[in-house]
Amino acid sequence: MIVASYDDAFINDFADEFDSYWSKTEGGKNIVSLLSPGGASRRVCLWRSTVDYYLADDDAALDNWFRNRFPGNKKNYRFTTATHIVLERPILPSEYPKSGATVLRFLRDLAPESIELLEEAAETADDKFTISFEGRTDDGPVFFAVEVMPPVKQGMKAERRPDMVQKGFRPGKVPTHIRMQRLFGGNKVERLETMRADASWIHGRDTPTVTPLFGKRVLMIGAGSLGSEVALLLAKTGVGSITLVDPELLDYPNVGRHMLGVTQVRTSKAKSLTQKLAGDFPHMRSIKYFAEDWQSLYGKRFNVFKNTDLIVSTVGSWVAEGRLNQVARSEAGFPPVIYGWAGPFSVAGHAVLIGANGPCFACGMDHFGKALQTVCEWDTETTRKQPHCGASIQPYGPVSLSGVAALVAKAATKALLGEVPPGTETVYWASKEEVAEQGGRFSSDFLNYFTDVPDFGGTSKFEWRQKEDCVFCGGS
Ligand SMILES: [Zn+2]
Repeated sequence: MIVASYDDAFINDFADEFDSYWSKTEGGKNIVSLLSPGGASRRVCLWRSTVDYYLADDDAALDNWFRNRFPGNKKNYRFTTATHIVLERPILPSEYPKSGATVLRFLRDLAPESIELLEEAAETADDKFTISFEGRTDDGPVFFAVEVMPPVKQGMKAERRPDMVQKGFRPGKVPTHIRMQRLFGGNKVERLETMRADASWIHGRDTPTVTPLFGKRVLMIGAGSLGSEVALLLAKTGVGSITLVDPELLDYPNVGRHMLGVTQVRTSKAKSLTQKLAGDFPHMRSIKYFAEDWQSLYGKRFNVFKNTDLIVSTVGSWVAEGRLNQVARSEAGFPPVIYGWAGPFSVAGHAVLIGANGPCFACGMDHFGKALQTVCEWDTETTRKQPHCGASIQPYGPVSLSGVAALVAKAATKALLGEVPPGTETVYWASKEEVAEQGGRFSSDFLNYFTDVPDFGGTSKFEWRQKEDCVFCGGS
């Protein structure tokens, strides 16, 4: 057994099944960990609730998480610290600690340099203290934790027990090596289970593409049926900062294809969606809203536009988007913009990425803001009059809209990662059958430009061509 326990294959077997061997001690807590994996051993921030413990790299990250997760809770959290130690491998069942002394024993083998960190922590430890571990394996890190209980003198009532760490010394005068002997002696250790809730784990279980997206900032203009789904998809993908801009209130007929429901009717779409995203993804770096149209926001706070990596507009109104296109071209340092919209009945969708140079959004539009290249042709009216209020609506359901939302969200993540150049249009189209069911057909433009249109639907990239006499960008 002893020889076998040093065999790599043997160690890997336990590492693979770590969670099923390491179960917390009765009374031991779950730790919700927001720690970023792959760092060095360090002091980290801890909050102990009566139910669970929470760990984060710093106070700000933990504070942000609580404010997002438990809005309206005005509690001032008093955070303490814990020690996070990175080990070259997870520990084996034979090494599971039962006392303070056995914790030190495996640390001397696996992370001797971390003992100094513990000595530092011991200086200020006045009660139990928490140590979190990250054991490296070939498949990524394994997280677990222990709580080292203070030494107690048995057989005395709790309130009369002397402080066994302090005993025999004046306050603050216990030499480090004595403190360490007392804190890491025969005293009890409880095992804790760590549940990772950090961005890297939540958005793809440590796949390397998540980290760059977490640092990105997206400004969403429009939080309607399309915008709300795009925002939700971006948050799920791991974009770390999202700001929503929309002046409208949610109404009953919106609910059929919006990410919000009846409980949020007559509330601001932007505000309620922000609250939903904050609660669902409390680790996000920033989630904010402005319940007004973008023009009024722009007049007051230009920095909201400037301090973002990408703007995604889904308002589908030429008045708003034509103006956005104009501003984007005239203002130095304006971020790239994706214009996303659904065609009639959502059987086609478009996402156009426009940068500071090259074609502008208007280059692909006629004077009325109608796209020059369309996917489908229609013999009949594609909008329907809404009874009693004179507005017209685009009739389509949530299922077909999802294809367009996925397209726009995908275009946004590709733009954020620099994987597509500005001037790229991505197009989604439904099957020929579905288009026909709605009374349409693929347009001759589309069939000419793209000779091999799959009948079962698909997506493809096109160049958004520059118009020579464009009044916005002058074709330059
Ligand atoms: Zn142009």
